Amino acid sequence: MTETAVDTRPVNLILLGPPGAGKGTQARMLEESFGLVQLSTGDLLRGAVAAGTEAGLAAKAVMEKGELVSDEIVLAVLKERLAQPDVAAGTILDGFPRTAGQAAALDALLAERGEQIDAVISLKVQDEAMVERVSGRFTCAGCGEGYHDSFKQPARPGVCDKCGGTEMKRRADDNAETVRTRLQAYHADTAPLIDYYAARGTLTEVDAMAEIGRVRAEMEAIVGKLTAA
Ligand code: ADP
Ligand code: ADP
Ligand code: ZN
Repeated sequence: MTETAVDTRPVNLILLGPPGAGKGTQARMLEESFGLVQLSTGDLLRGAVAAGTEAGLAAKAVMEKGELVSDEIVLAVLKERLAQPDVAAGTILDGFPRTAGQAAALDALLAERGEQIDAVISLKVQDEAMVERVSGRFTCAGCGEGYHDSFKQPARPGVCDKCGGTEMKRRADDNAETVRTRLQAYHADTAPLIDYYAARGTLTEVDAMAEIGRVRAEMEAIVGKLTAA
């Protein structure tokens, strides 16, 4: 009898998509289902802003305008996070890479760890719908669970389904005007990465205009194939 080799190498995924596409929502669900760790550079940068670190001070005004923070700063916060032990099982990169420079730096960073990108999932949406998605977004201050005024309300108004917390917060940059700048940044700097990863054969596209549960099922089918031993 031959033994089946069990592949214990970490699985690394990238979620690509404009603001509002559902990257954060789906990343949290994939964390739950597969034990991977969501790594959101937006969250890391907001953490740095709140902590008043040097990186945070430099990033704050750029983020408020909806422009992209420099690769140097983003890579610094990402490297710090990747040094923590909990990412060993694998990661879901949410909102990173966003530029060709970041994609190249990520390849180098993973190569040093003996790892690679296993799949890139591109969340396809219509820009016009993203203004409403982003403007109606709010999250639980306690656990970070994401909600929406129209599309995903907590079961009891004002009370988080996940942790029971009652403090909800909205991001300063989640307004219609800034969303338009962020969409432009996506098309100018990030959308070209779709071709970059497609050329390597690691890209899958998902219809992210569908409702949250349907998108989840599609994503889980893709990730399930990667994690099956
Ligand atoms: P991203 O991380 O890509 O910016 P989010 O996951 O935060 O996007 O989603 C943006 C907002 O849209 C959130 O309020 C979320 O609840 C909601 N949302 C996410 N996916 C869908 C979907 N498929 N249909 C409708 N609303 C969605
Ligand atoms: P969304 O999911 O709505 O696109 P994020 O939380 O990912 O928003 O990002 C919020 C802001 O943080 C961006 O508009 C940008 O200013 C900054 N940011 C986050 N990730 C990156 C990145 N990889 N490169 C450059 N800027 C980033
Ligand atoms: Zn909560």
